[in-house]
Amino acid sequence: MPRIALIAHDEKKPELIEFVDEHVDVFRECEVIATGTTGKRLEQETDLTVERMASGPIGGDLMIGAEVAKDALDGIIFLRDPLRAQPHEPDITALLRICDVHETPLATNLGSARPLVEELERGL
Ligand code: PGA
Repeated sequence: MPRIALIAHDEKKPELIEFVDEHVDVFRECEVIATGTTGKRLEQETDLTVERMASGPIGGDLMIGAEVAKDALDGIIFLRDPLRAQPHEPDITALLRICDVHETPLATNLGSARPLVEELERGL
């Protein structure tokens, strides 16, 4: 079963929830982990069961980065807010970097999230 991480900054959470809802049949066939608030909202607003890490600003991105470092993730959808600075920018940079080190597929907008999910679907 593919293991996927989902993260969205506050302004992007509605977009992620709608996207997950549209592709819930694919995500149900995955093990899904998420940062704290993203995971909580996904559980409340979709049919998905999610393993929740800490909230992003208190280390959730780093916890997901650690999974990448262990090669324990098959992909990440991380809807970043490109218009607002985040207090935990260094953690976000670390996560992006470790994805590049491990060649872990990383989608940071819906344009790249769609092919990532299509690829997952093909593999199911
Ligand atoms: P959150 O974290 O899901 O706990 O809001 C996301 C982030 O800010 O990176």
